[in-house]
Amino acid sequence: MASESVKVVVRCRPMNKRERELSCQSVVTVDCARGQCFIQNPGAADEPPKQFTFDGAYYIEHFTEQIYNEIAYPLVEGVTEGYNGTIFAYGQTGSGKSFTMQGLPDPPCQRGIIPRAFEHVFESVQCAENTKFLVRASYLEIYNEDVRDLLGADTKQRLELKEHPEKGVYVKGLSMHTVHNVAQCERVMETGWKNRAVGYTLMNKDSSRSHSIFTINIEIYAVDERGKDHLRAGKLNLVDLAGSERQSKTGATGERLKEATKINLSLSALGNVISALVDGRCKHIPYRDSKLTRLLQDSLGGNTKTLMVACLSPADNNYDETLSTLRYANRAKNIKNKPRINEDPKDALLREYQEEIKRLKAILAQQMGPGNLSALLSTQTPSGPVHPEEKLPSPTTVQQDTEAEKQMIREPSSTDLLEPGDTKPEADVADNILLRTEPDLSMKVAEEVVSEAETSVWMESEAHVAHVAQVSEEAQPQSLLAMASVRRESIGVEVAVLTEELQPVDQQQVLARLQLLEQQVVGGEQAKNKDLKEKHRRRKRYADERKKQLVAALQNSDEDSGDWVLLNVYDSIQEEVRAKSKLLEKMQKKLRAAEVEIKDLQSEFQLEKIDYLATIRRQERDSMLFQQLLEQVQPLIRRDCNYSNLEKIRRESSWDEDNGFWKIPEPIILKTSLPVVPTGTQNKPARKTSAVDSGEPHMLITTHHRGSIPL
Ligand code: ADP
Ligand code: MG
Repeated sequence: MASESVKVVVRCRPMNKRERELSCQSVVTVDCARGQCFIQNPGAADEPPKQFTFDGAYYIEHFTEQIYNEIAYPLVEGVTEGYNGTIFAYGQTGSGKSFTMQGLPDPPCQRGIIPRAFEHVFESVQCAENTKFLVRASYLEIYNEDVRDLLGADTKQRLELKEHPEKGVYVKGLSMHTVHNVAQCERVMETGWKNRAVGYTLMNKDSSRSHSIFTINIEIYAVDERGKDHLRAGKLNLVDLAGSERQSKTGATGERLKEATKINLSLSALGNVISALVDGRCKHIPYRDSKLTRLLQDSLGGNTKTLMVACLSPADNNYDETLSTLRYANRAKNIKNKPRINEDPKDALLREYQEEIKRLKAILAQQMGPGNLSALLSTQTPSGPVHPEEKLPSPTTVQQDTEAEKQMIREPSSTDLLEPGDTKPEADVADNILLRTEPDLSMKVAEEVVSEAETSVWMESEAHVAHVAQVSEEAQPQSLLAMASVRRESIGVEVAVLTEELQPVDQQQVLARLQLLEQQVVGGEQAKNKDLKEKHRRRKRYADERKKQLVAALQNSDEDSGDWVLLNVYDSIQEEVRAKSKLLEKMQKKLRAAEVEIKDLQSEFQLEKIDYLATIRRQERDSMLFQQLLEQVQPLIRRDCNYSNLEKIRRESSWDEDNGFWKIPEPIILKTSLPVVPTGTQNKPARKTSAVDSGEPHMLITTHHRGSIPL
């Protein structure tokens, strides 16, 4: 399988007000044409600047638009073709990560990579021919090593990571939101951004504490010239990482320091993963060391096209951090990924939609005759999906329409996005349909429920699923259809699946369902717009040309690096001596640079070691405190409680690798009670029982799935 390296670009922001007030000097320079970045050590002016070469290097005058067009464009385009892609910003707090990823609405050339990706995805979708897309978005945050759904019903709830043999690592219960256009994507992102643990307004001070991942999932259903259909799926992760600075330097204490240690943990885990990946001798890649690295596992050495934007401050007082970012970035560019088009994904929702659409059309065609059906469809569903944006001019009506749509499909995840002023749908459509109780409708209700369960599984609780199951059961006259319950391990919920053919049904209902399904799917709206398609092609070409230019510029600089000097034929001895002395001088410079680099790395390791040792000492103190507290408390624990024997409890506890916590036994009270002795049986021995600590003489055993103890 072809492999490709992780792409890395650097971007240096202008000095900020504070740096200017402190009269900071700039230590970073950039050669954009060659993708090179230089950094001068302010403490050693005689040392040559350190030099790094990347897939792109951008300075204060460059706009995000240029970065996107030159390097992000091909990656996002790949996602619309069925590749996975990840773009992440790395750098110390205030270096421009959010500026690069989210950006500013004004001037438009500084809009961030995320909104540009939205536009790009929908442009590709609309230009595509004979292809339909299902686009869904999710947004999560990793804060204090907890994963939270920024678009979920409860954004504070801690979600678990799970691993699936085919899909890889995923977040159980993460909500997915179907989006039909750029405006909806932006609204979803806006909602999530406001839900970040670290406040919208305090962004700069605090957003450095959490990592966030916005994901656009695209399912692609294409029909080729021979009429054969193909299904593919791509996923675009847009990652805004926490600040990379060493937290001990920031003087954090208490909770903040604890938080900081965890940020450091996942960032240093990221660093370790990168190092392990580029060190050919390393067999074990420590993905499991943090949530971040587990979630980005496929983006680092796996089936993904990855781009890292390393953000830099130019100021001399940030030299250490900037150098460390450059080193990190320099290592990352050696990671080899193995991206491939994801053909025929097993859990594709779009396939089910397409199959149901086909089925519904067949039913209608049978009832009405194919000619009538196409006439009806062309009046009711004008050539393909109807999009709220096309029908409705103003943003408010867009919203209303979206609400109506949400109500129709009763996609609970979407209702979570209601703004404070919005009204919640009064009753669920499925419930409304149920009230009508015509037997021939029950099939559709069940299907509604099925597809709804599918769309909502990512965020739904077991309770909802139970409700779904109940609704479908109530809805089904058993004579009409057989239901099978299928455990979907990958997504962890039960969904009801219909196993019988459809019966004759109400035309209007079928038509409504058909329209509803077709509205979930987008694609091809601008397939005839030649100008847009041409613009699209031009942008694709632009990135290719830029890559060629960069390679050519680097080749030129290699040529004057002097290696050819040795192979040349010289007219005179003097000429040869001059050329070779020049080469020698260059080599000596390189040697000095390498020696300085070794010294630098050693002192950096030393600093890191001090940091780690400080963390270990602090954690040891914490653990001693808990130990001492336990020793004081243990004699106070009643003897009939299993926790009075802490050593036994310790032996029975086990570390849950997947979820990162200890599974410990539930506390239970074991009591011996003497049953009331009935007269005449006084000599029988007492029975031993156990009970919840309820004070009752008769007892039960409390157990818990995490820590039941057989008694
Ligand atoms: P981070 O997310 O890395 O902590 P931000 O993206 O919030 O940092 O940037 C910090 C500040 O610097 C913001 O006020 C932002 O507008 C400004 N900034 C960052 N990069 C640039 C840039 N390339 N050009 C102009 N201003 C920038
Ligand atoms: Mg930020």
